[in-house]
This record gives sequence, C-alpha cells and structure tokens, in this order.
Amino acid sequence: MSTDIGEEIISLKKDRDALLLVHNYQDSKLHELGDFSGDSFELAHKAKYTDKEMIVFAGAEFMAETAVILNPDKKVLIPSSTAKCPMAHMLSPKVMKRYQTQYPDATIAVYVNTTAEIKAMADICITSGNAIEIISKLDNDQILIGPDRNLASYIQQQLPEKMIIPFPEIGHCYVHQKFIPSDIKKLRNKYPEAEIIAHPEVASSVQTLADKICSTSGMLKEVGRSTSEKFIIMTEIGLIDRLRSNFPTKTFIPARKDAICIQQKKITIYNLYLSLLHERYQVKVPATIAKNARLSLERMLEFSEA
Ligand code: SF4
Repeated sequence: MSTDIGEEIISLKKDRDALLLVHNYQDSKLHELGDFSGDSFELAHKAKYTDKEMIVFAGAEFMAETAVILNPDKKVLIPSSTAKCPMAHMLSPKVMKRYQTQYPDATIAVYVNTTAEIKAMADICITSGNAIEIISKLDNDQILIGPDRNLASYIQQQLPEKMIIPFPEIGHCYVHQKFIPSDIKKLRNKYPEAEIIAHPEVASSVQTLADKICSTSGMLKEVGRSTSEKFIIMTEIGLIDRLRSNFPTKTFIPARKDAICIQQKKITIYNLYLSLLHERYQVKVPATIAKNARLSLERMLEFSEA
C-alpha cells in the first residue's frame, strides 16, 4: 500500500467521522484500512448500530443501500458508482409481482443481494449466513426465495419440511457459477486430505461435492474450528487473502483463480481516497421505498438475533 494514500485515508476517515465497512471479497489493502470486515449480514448489523456520522462501503451497491435503509440519518458513500451486483438486478418488480400473484399464500424471503425496491416488496430478507436459521423459524411452510436459485436449492436441501419456491428462472451469481463438478473432482483427487468448503451460491451439482457449505464469514469460522490443515475454497478469490492472513499456518487452494467479482473489485484504494475527499458517491433510497424495505431488513435482524 502507498503509505501516503493510506495515511490520507486514515486522516480523512477521522475528519469525516466515517466508518469504513469492507466486504470479505475486497482486496487486503482495503481490509487493512477498514474499521470492520465481514459478510453482508455482519456489515448490515454494523451499519445499523454505528454512531459515526458517515458510512463508507467497500462492497456492492446493494450493501450500501442496506446501510441507508437501516440508518437513514447517516450519509452513506460508495467509492464506485458502478459497483452493482448483477444478481441483484436479475429480480425486477414486474417479475416479483408475477410470483406474488401466482403464490398469494407464500412468504417472500429475498436475498439481501437485491435492490431496495425488491426489499420493499418482500416479507423478509435473508443472507447466505442466516438463511437456514431464518427460514426454519418462519411459521409459513411455503416460501418464495429469490433471486439466487442455488441458495434456494441449498435451503430446500437443509429444510425438507418447507416448500421452497425459487424465483426468478435466471437468478444466479456469475462468479459462483464458474465452479463446475469436473474441476472439483480433480482437486479432490489431487488433494485428498483437503477439506472442501463451498458458498451456497455455487450450483447444487457442486454443493454435493463439498464437505461444508457456508457464507464467507462462515468459512472463516469453519477454518478456525477445523482440524484440517488444507482447504479447497469455492467462493470469490478475495476471501483467500483473508483466510491466508487470518490462518498463516494453514493452506488454501482456490478452486478457481478466475472467480473474481468484477463489480466489487471496482472499489480501489484510490477511489476510496477520492470518495472520502469529495464525499462521493452518496447512495440514496427514496423514503417510501426505504420505509417498507426497512421492515424486511429489520425482520431479518430480529429473527437472527432472536
Ligand atoms: S460475488 Fe456474485 S453475488 Fe456477490 S456481489 Fe459479485 S456478482 Fe453479486
């Protein structure tokens, strides 16, 4: 890291009274400067309870929107206005309405990787880290889950007593879609002693080949408690740096080196500096949308804390 720019960022954070939240997929330089690193649920929690004046999000746009919704009095910035998760835009209000009409009795649980408008139309939000806990606690057994079909399939497998209806037809993460069974089988043969950990956004045909399925923060916890020394990791490549830095004596093999989220990688140390300097780009959510979206997000927080 350029010492000068790092010091400038630290000084600007202090001047602006800013909290820097860094998603697990980000570059290690950003983690070094951040106040907190975590998955989307942990970051949402931090954003809600901070007493800082400003929140700067090194993550995808939907995470910054979540911070605005949960803490509307704060100024929320994202260093790149193009850090938009493609999966979050795969579920449109029009499609959502179609499924609502088709399944009027279903509870609608949407992944936090959605736009604010979609959160406002849902009953509750979920993340990969809390989905099983939340869905298992819902009274209703018929649940619409979107937009990630692989996460929906994982939930269905874990909770066979529930009727999980995935929507829409196209929902997926292009980064996690890169993992394919033949690659994982080759790695299993090459490193038979390694523990294979996958994110629930990988295809169900790949999930069945993993020893453990968990969110990014779940992966950090699993490595910490596991007696294995070697791990094959199926998620965005940025997490490998965090794992190596947190567990220097263990070995981590990325299942694919090209599992890169181009959108999250649009946040850099340079545009972070410019973001703090010029207080840009401020993320805003219309008040009427934010009001309803907050209900879905707060329900998620309540169910996770209960
Ligand atoms: S890794 Fe996938 S789900 Fe996460 S922000 Fe990138 S495209 Fe979206």
